Order: sequence, then C-alpha cells, then structure tokens
Amino acid sequence: MKKIQMVDLKGQYEQIKDQVNNAVLDVIESTAFINGPEVHAFQAELEAYLEVKHVIPCANGTDALQIAMMGLGLKTGDEVITADFTFAATVEVIALLQLTPVLVDVDPVNFNIDIDALKKAITPKTKAIVPVHLFGLAANMDAVMEVAEEHNLFVIEDNAQGIGANYTSKDGSKTKTGAIGHVGSTSFFPSKNLGCYGDGGAIFTNDDDLAHTIRGIVNHGMYVRYHHDVVGVNSRLDSIQATVLRTKLPLLDTYNTKRRNAALKYSAALSGNKNIITPKGVCAVGNSICETCDCHVFHQYTLVVKNTDRDGLVQFLNENEIPCGVYYPIPLHAQKAYKDERYNEAGFKVTNQLVKKCISLPMHTELDDDQIKFITDKILEFVGK
Ligand SMILES: *Cc1c(COP(=O)(O)O)cnc(C)c1O
Repeated sequence: MKKIQMVDLKGQYEQIKDQVNNAVLDVIESTAFINGPEVHAFQAELEAYLEVKHVIPCANGTDALQIAMMGLGLKTGDEVITADFTFAATVEVIALLQLTPVLVDVDPVNFNIDIDALKKAITPKTKAIVPVHLFGLAANMDAVMEVAEEHNLFVIEDNAQGIGANYTSKDGSKTKTGAIGHVGSTSFFPSKNLGCYGDGGAIFTNDDDLAHTIRGIVNHGMYVRYHHDVVGVNSRLDSIQATVLRTKLPLLDTYNTKRRNAALKYSAALSGNKNIITPKGVCAVGNSICETCDCHVFHQYTLVVKNTDRDGLVQFLNENEIPCGVYYPIPLHAQKAYKDERYNEAGFKVTNQLVKKCISLPMHTELDDDQIKFITDKILEFVGK
C-alpha cells in the first residue's frame, strides 16, 4: 500500500506534469509575469465555470475576503456576522478593517452558520453576513439570503473550501457556491480543491459597479493610471499561478468527483457505527451522502465521534501512519485575539462540542481503495463496533 497522506499534491502533479511544466516554462519565456494574458484568460475561464459575471483574481483567499469587504464600503463599527467554527482568516479581516466581528454558533448537521443564531445576532449596526461553505459543503444560502434581504444586509460568501460545489435552491435552480451572495471569495492555496503552486485567490460578483470598485482596490485604488481615488492594496495573482490554475480548472469537476467517491467509501464503511457521525450533504438521504450529491465537494471529510476519546483516536491513527487533522481545535470566540465579553458560552453549544469531537480524515484526489479500507478498519478498531 502507498504511504497515506493527508493531501497528496505530488501524486496529483505527476498526472499533469508535462502539461503544467510546459505551461510554466512558456510564462517564463514570455516574461509577462504580472497581469499577463494568462491571468486574463484564467479570469474569463473561471467566470464561465462559475457562471458569474466578474472574477477578480488576487493574491490569496484572505486578501479576497478583505477586499470584498473594502469594496462594499463597510465602515468602522459596522457589525459583520460570521460562523464561530471556521478558519481564522474569516474573522481576522473583519477585525483588521476595524469592523465589529459577531461570531455565532453553527448547525450541528452541516457545520455551517446556524440560521436561528444568525437571526438573533442581528442589531441595527449589522451590515453584512459571511457564510462559510465549511469543509466544502454549501451553507443554507436560501435562508441566509432571506435574512439578508429582510434586514438589508450584504452577503459575502467565503468559498475558500467550497469551489465547484452546487447549491440547489428551494425553486430547484442550481448555482455555484460563491456566486449566490453579493460577493464571494476563494483561495487557491495548494491544498484547496483548486490549488495553485503558491498563493492565489479570487473575488466573484455579478454586480458591475462592485466589480469596478474592486478592480481598483486590488490595484492601489487606481482606476486611471497614477490617479488614486481610494485607499487600495496591492493584491495580484501572478501569471505562473494563473497558468497552473488554467491547467487544473478543466479537471476541477473530476477532482471533486474523486473526493466524493472517497467520501462515499468512507461513509459506507463508517456510517453504521453508533459512535461515529459521518458527514451529510444538503440533499442527504437517510444517514449519509447521496451518490450524485454535488452540494459537497469534500475539502475535508470530517467525522464527529461519540463516547470516544477523540485525541486518543488521533494518536492511534498517527501511530498507524494515518495522518488526520482537527479542524478546528479552538472555537474562534475562545481565541485570544477574538475574545469579547459580549459572548456567552451558552451561545456556542455546537462549536464547543465540535472542537472536542471532530476529526478530519485524509482527503485528496489520489486515495485508493486499499488506503481507505486500512483507514476505516483502524478507526473501527479504536471506536469499537
Ligand atoms: C484557506 C481559507 C482562507 C484563506 O485563504 P488563504 O489563501 O490561505 O489566505 C479563508 N477562509 C477559509 C474558510 C479558508 O479555508
């Protein structure tokens, strides 16, 4: 059996090696390193894939979130609501812009922003909601958009983990995550579902005016050369990263299908166990995920264990050379940087539980059946039948 890895970037690279190497060498020969034709071509191709009017590439997913918030003109003291259970970047940029982060609990089934908690957190100062499509599963966007409309709030989708996922609305229409709210963001960090070979990110919107504003912000607030109309930033996707992404974008759906197939196999082996809760899609059937479910792109495959020492399980798997991850071990409201006396522990029942009981298994495009069987057998050995 091949050595098991949490993410197998090397195995994936081997399969596109010639194509990607040639593409990168072509960029070097062209010397169009910044803002070159590869960046523009990637932008257009991603717009077509996501069926969104505007993609604005930038330097990373954290910048993408920050620039989206700058573009919306949010001001000091405006409250921005987001989930307590996510990567810190989401709350970091809110705080950095001197907006007021308001963290709320998540739903115990989909791990995304809890709609009742969201509604309760709204005040006259609330200006925006940042749903995160955590682990690759679409948040409940019908409900988020309904709340936003009722209270006249902006919706910024943090789609760093969800690129390629489809959200099916109540009316049956499908939309790619990141293209539903007023603005969306993603990351092309190497381990993300669409990863480049360095840092990268992008902002999406269907709003022409907002797209124009954001295109200036990413480029020092310039709309006409050397005329700086607003305070901007320097945040660029470079041409080498763009050409890697152009090579991989046509493979994204295949990559996400491979992740889903690995997830289905994990769930088939584990979902019957009374001490394990396997992940669900929005269109969940019974206790598991469905065969065609495309609302979940499995950036992570995350279990919740019951009556089991989670940290003991992590150690046991590591001893058996099975890497695994705990995303995330500390809720954001309990992080030193984001503590706030307004928070009440009783409001974070789900995240406080998840941080103690969640465990993410190896998940990437190169997992094979032997590896999956070895992993699930070891888990069952530890948690008991
Ligand atoms: C990775 C990630 C980001 C940040 O992306 P970077 O490219 O690393 O800056 C933001 N939000 C979430 C949910 C992420 O997973």
